[in-house]
Amino acid sequence: MLRLRVGSVIQLFQVVTSSWCYIMTARSSKICLFDVDGTLTQPRQKADQETLNFLLKSLKPVCHLGIVSGSDMKKVVEQMGGESVVDQFDYIFPENGLVAYKNGKLFDKKSIVDHMGLINVSPVGRSCTQEERNAFEKYDKEHHVRQTLIDKLKQDLPDLGLTYSIGGQISFDAFPHGFDKTYCLKYLENEFPNQIHFFGDKTFSGGNDFEIFNDKRTIGHSVTSPQHTVQTLRELFNLK
Ligand SMILES: [Mg+2]
Repeated sequence: MLRLRVGSVIQLFQVVTSSWCYIMTARSSKICLFDVDGTLTQPRQKADQETLNFLLKSLKPVCHLGIVSGSDMKKVVEQMGGESVVDQFDYIFPENGLVAYKNGKLFDKKSIVDHMGLINVSPVGRSCTQEERNAFEKYDKEHHVRQTLIDKLKQDLPDLGLTYSIGGQISFDAFPHGFDKTYCLKYLENEFPNQIHFFGDKTFSGGNDFEIFNDKRTIGHSVTSPQHTVQTLRELFNLK
């Protein structure tokens, strides 16, 4: 009787420790790295509570969480539910990783004097209303204003050494070659070899997720909305 009980306790202990080890191993070996606009939030909007709950309560126990955005930290914090995001996500890379946070602490920052940083170009002007944003996005889809402007810049000023990428609804970024979202991978590639899952909505050529989506250090997932991101994660990690 006693032997049976001891056996059961040992067995239970083994089940508990192996599950725990599985969870620990699973979490420590993988990271899901997210674009913000169009991937975790509607463009320029705040993340909804349902998406945040899924990320923090369902996904975080099995996987590290990271954000990479062309926007600055202020904008990321505003869109991702306030200051608490800094502690909730394992890594945050505003400005494509020119600024880098880990476990709630700033751990690297390239001075804008050292590097030119990002230049955001908006044909319609950044101070337009949400209505005008939506109207421009629609117009741009049909008339390719941003892509035409980029093509013209590349053609007329080929020696600037700049890469251009279309993101969000009304603008595109210009930055020195190599300072796209792949810049942040240098902080992750050793800790998560072959286990960096990247999620972005602008993964097409010329989009601001194109380079990181296609980088050999990431496993790329192209998504169309926050709901699509959550659905993709549920399937990938077998989560309810
Ligand atoms: Mg995006």
